[in-house]
Amino acid sequence: MAQVAETSIGFGFDIHRLGDANKPLVVVGMRIPNATSGPIAHSDGDSAIHALIDSILGSIAEGDIGAHFPDSDPKYKNISSVFLLKETLRIFYRRGGHIQHIDMTVILDEPPLVKFRDHFRGYLAALCGLPKERISIKFKHTNGAYAMPVYAAQCAVLVSIMKER
Ligand SMILES: [Zn+2]
Repeated sequence: MAQVAETSIGFGFDIHRLGDANKPLVVVGMRIPNATSGPIAHSDGDSAIHALIDSILGSIAEGDIGAHFPDSDPKYKNISSVFLLKETLRIFYRRGGHIQHIDMTVILDEPPLVKFRDHFRGYLAALCGLPKERISIKFKHTNGAYAMPVYAAQCAVLVSIMKER
């Protein structure tokens, strides 16, 4: 019998305040040079990877990152979020999922990340087993929308998938 596949999408959003001078700023698994402080977070606080994890879990209606990797659990303290992404992909593949396309928007005022776009795309392509052409990464600033400087790293991700059933 022919395998029946269905399409689905998943959305993820994450935000971490920046202000821990003893922690590096990690975005898409990379330590960002020239960042003055890192995220206040239980894990490494990589908001891009956290949003991607939530989008993947969302695409198969599997709850959220906190349900799978609770921040009350000491074993996740300062853990690399890339490790959590790999665990998430294991759950996703077990459910018959295939990622089709990732569209990510990173919102950070300082430092600028645009020069890392190609590196981020290549890194996510390797992690998710996708051609680079199927990974879109955009960068935004808060554009003075708040009355004070925004010390936060934010990310929103939309993922489209195919699922065998
Ligand atoms: Zn997070």
